[in-house]
Amino acid sequence: MHVVLGEVKDGKLSYQSINACLTFVGALHGKQLISVEDLQTDEGLHPVQKAMVDFHGSQCGFCTPGFIMSMFALTKNSPNADKHSVEEALAGNLCRCTGYRPIVDAALSLSNNTPLKDQFSDYEAQVVNTLSKLNLTTTSLHGDNKSAFVPTSTDELAAILEKHPDAKLVAGGTDLALEVTQFHRDIDTLVHLNNISDMKSIVETDNHLDIGANVSLSEVDHVITPHYPDFGRLLQRFASLQIRNQGTLGGNIANASPIGDSPPLLLALNAEIVLRKGNRRRTVNLDDFFLGYKVTLLEPSEFIERVIIPKPHKHQFFQAHKISKRIDDDISAVCGAFNLTIENNTVTDVCLAFGGLAAIPARATSAEAALINKTLDDKSIDAAMKALTQDFSPITDCRATKEYRLETAANLLYRTYLRIRLDHNNSQAQQIEVTSYVS
Ligand SMILES: Cc1cc2nc3c(=O)[nH]c(=O)nc-3n(C[C@H](O)[C@H](O)[C@H](O)COP(=O)(O)OP(=O)(O)OC[C@H]3O[C@@H](n4cnc5c(N)ncnc54)[C@H](O)[C@@H]3O)c2cc1C
Repeated sequence: MHVVLGEVKDGKLSYQSINACLTFVGALHGKQLISVEDLQTDEGLHPVQKAMVDFHGSQCGFCTPGFIMSMFALTKNSPNADKHSVEEALAGNLCRCTGYRPIVDAALSLSNNTPLKDQFSDYEAQVVNTLSKLNLTTTSLHGDNKSAFVPTSTDELAAILEKHPDAKLVAGGTDLALEVTQFHRDIDTLVHLNNISDMKSIVETDNHLDIGANVSLSEVDHVITPHYPDFGRLLQRFASLQIRNQGTLGGNIANASPIGDSPPLLLALNAEIVLRKGNRRRTVNLDDFFLGYKVTLLEPSEFIERVIIPKPHKHQFFQAHKISKRIDDDISAVCGAFNLTIENNTVTDVCLAFGGLAAIPARATSAEAALINKTLDDKSIDAAMKALTQDFSPITDCRATKEYRLETAANLLYRTYLRIRLDHNNSQAQQIEVTSYVS
């Protein structure tokens, strides 16, 4: 079930649709929780509900509350959403009887450049005032031998973890909550990261993007796309908007899944992470972080504080590709990220990384060796594609066979080569055009 959280941003309420079944109660501290029951008033249906009725967007009704809440968040935030934004907002909602066309039409009918006036806008100032006060406090919940802490700074977080080394950190909860909902495990001590503002900050320097571990994947998309458009394109394929609103970059790294989507890209970009335990901080290359299947360098009481990504430079080509059975809301069978520096047609730096080919997200060092200091041509790329078989021995599972994974990885490398050649030819063609114009 999807619900909406209202959060204060720049003195106003910003609304995000999230999955209620993946959300622990501590994540609601300082937020306004809105469910479908809150929409209708004594005066009748909410405009979003009315649009759904008018456009015949509901049949069995099973999925309707979720669609309504996703449309509500979209319409409140973006009164002029286009079709792409509507499709993106609804990608995490499944309808199995009505069909999507009337639902998309209902959402588009609300997009009329006029901010939606409803009971929530009437009380916005009051809610902002109440939430702003609540956000300033650290809180904890205790009962049934279980505790949940909601700290508001990294210093407090470090202190709580020193006291409770067995505590489970929860950022967006989109992985951790499955331990409870799918595997019925008990978690005795939870520490919520969602109210720690310093872990949500993004600092851009001349050379780096320095991203707090608790920045949501939706926000990472906004900040990284101008620098690495392929990173942004891949994030658009990461789960659905609801999951990207909740899930964080730190959570995607810390869960150490072999098929997590951001780690191969971060590995290829030579990202570093800042780990903190008590007052000690250490900066490690992400390549050194993953030790084995779901095993990382993190010590008890240690957490990921920040992720540091180098900014692109002039001769760099970065591409990333995700292969999955569905476009939206699906986990990778193979994910490949390719970062090459090419000067005078020679590869002077190369970093190739894959997910889905090993127990951890990993670099393809033999393939890299086949390319470094070589001319980038059919011969060197062929050698690199063949070398992938020395780098990886993937497994067969429900997502793909081992043969498919290896062949796909090689084909993604070849696709990257073709795109680089195309870019190169285009830029040469442009130069010729400019030259002939000048002459
Ligand atoms: C429907 C659905 C679709 C999904 N699709 C994708 C997909 O397409 N691609 C993909 O890669 N993943 C996908 N996921 C998995 C998940 O959304 C991501 O891994 C997400 O990035 C996890 O982030 P989180 O903040 O929710 O982590 P959480 O669930 O809060 O935490 C995950 C783990 O990391 C630890 N942790 C969190 N933050 C820190 C920190 N700062 N320091 C140390 N440890 C920390 C937690 O203790 C926990 O062990 C999907 C999940 C769902 C439910």
